[in-house]
Amino acid sequence: MLACYDAPMAEKGRVVGIDLGTTNTLVASVKNRVPRIVPTDKGALVLPSVVSLSPRGDLVVGGVARDQIVTNPRNTIYGAKRLIGRKYDTKVVQALKSYFSYEIVPGADGDAAVSLGGRVYSLPEVSAMVLGQAKTIAEQFLQAPITEAVITVPAYYTDNQRQAVKQAGQLAGFVVKRIVNEPTAAALAYGFNRGLDQRILVYDLGGGTFDVSVLDVKNNVFEVVATGGDTFLGGLDFDNRIIDFVVQAFLDQTKVDLTKSPIAMQRVKNAAEAAKIDLSLMQNVTIELPYVEERKGKPLDLRIPLAREQLNSLTRDLVDRTFEICDDVLTEKGITRSSIDEVILVGGQSRMPLVQQRIQEHFGKPARKGVHPDECVALGAALLGESMDSPDSVLLLDAVSMPIGYGLPTGRFRKIIEKNHRVPMVKSFRVPPPQKPGAPFIEIDIFQGDSEFIVDNEYLGTVKLPAASTGRRIDFRVDHECLLHVFLEGAGEPAEVKLATRDTPELLKKAVAEAMAKRSQQDERAAAEKGGLFSSIKRLLGGD
Ligand code: AMP
Repeated sequence: MLACYDAPMAEKGRVVGIDLGTTNTLVASVKNRVPRIVPTDKGALVLPSVVSLSPRGDLVVGGVARDQIVTNPRNTIYGAKRLIGRKYDTKVVQALKSYFSYEIVPGADGDAAVSLGGRVYSLPEVSAMVLGQAKTIAEQFLQAPITEAVITVPAYYTDNQRQAVKQAGQLAGFVVKRIVNEPTAAALAYGFNRGLDQRILVYDLGGGTFDVSVLDVKNNVFEVVATGGDTFLGGLDFDNRIIDFVVQAFLDQTKVDLTKSPIAMQRVKNAAEAAKIDLSLMQNVTIELPYVEERKGKPLDLRIPLAREQLNSLTRDLVDRTFEICDDVLTEKGITRSSIDEVILVGGQSRMPLVQQRIQEHFGKPARKGVHPDECVALGAALLGESMDSPDSVLLLDAVSMPIGYGLPTGRFRKIIEKNHRVPMVKSFRVPPPQKPGAPFIEIDIFQGDSEFIVDNEYLGTVKLPAASTGRRIDFRVDHECLLHVFLEGAGEPAEVKLATRDTPELLKKAVAEAMAKRSQQDERAAAEKGGLFSSIKRLLGGD
């Protein structure tokens, strides 16, 4: 059973494992070969992943910052994990802007950034504040300097997102020993040194993301055989369903629209999450918010009962979606459900009874008990960090979670690296000629994603080469952290090419627009049948 330390003892510096979560961050370290969660100075096992600029002008992190979500929503950054490593000018970030109360602005290199008290902070800076706090907590508790960390990321993170988390770790003062996928870390916590020979499925439903990975565990070799997920499916979506329900019920009762009041909405948001968590234990709850609004100067209280069954029907499609993703991941690799020996649940939202019931129905067996859904990712990261320098180290055979390739002038995506390819790996191709004949430069825009159209994938960067490079070999190398390195063949050894970003996000937008216009002339009808592509492009380009 996992527990926090009984008593701290002065020790020499060590490596920690950090689960940098959407909602909370956990730090673990290994002592006497046992990984344990490091408690905060207040005795809690989690540090809220929240940063706030207090009304007095101080930047605060963790629980103190979370307490300001209601009273100081414009200056309180939560859910940074959803934004980090994303370009500002993407559908995803634009959608998030209406969803978060704080200001999301364009930052350097066209990345999404946030504004706090008039100063722009990059998302790695924000996450570095959380990681820095985690470092301080661990150093105080372990009474030793901590210089190294293994930090976890969702398996479904792109190269940009991984790089951004690594940068956050470095900004926080860590040597980032390794970025590792959360499901892989969870599998490690489950199977490390247990001499297993099993195929396991890690079902990870956290605050903001859903990840599923299938791993073959043989002794201390952990091989990812398939992976998939949705970076926009998590506990927050469940909360939103309750919020919508409550707002509508209150409107029906009082004719007062709570969405007009940011403070009331923040209170509803907190109460919705609390009700959801209570409904994992109880069958019925009542959401109560005294004086949530007023009408004609008179206070209005909110009192809305919610039953577990109602919550299930409000969110059933979200749970269904997780199992569709599981099936897609299995089907892609020809894996049958019956070949899964164990299902491991990770992430707070997986505690929902409906999820557990559906696991039993879907896989014909209950989820594995004894693996702590909140703690196992940090524990696995700590085990990995510790074992990396030891002779009985584990062997992690990870895989690319999303294809990587480049954009074609037609707006299509040319895949170079397929999904689920084992890392580290190299794939090569020849530099295409310049898009405009006679142009002095070749620009290859690199994207990562599952769509066959670049507009739906994440832009990673641009390889800018002189026109004379046409025909030379380019290597896409993906290292064991699933990070991409681009090399160009030359006279000697292939040299690493630094990815540039398009000079401005507008230029990328323009390039995408031009590509799409060309493509639309070519096969407008076929694209229309693909369902909604044009509306999504129009949205991206600011149309509609
Ligand atoms: P994580 O990102 O793993 O920390 O997951 C946090 C998410 O899990 C949040 O959306 C929480 O509301 C949700 N959560 C935590 N505990 C429970 C619970 N007992 N039942 C349902 N959801 C929960």
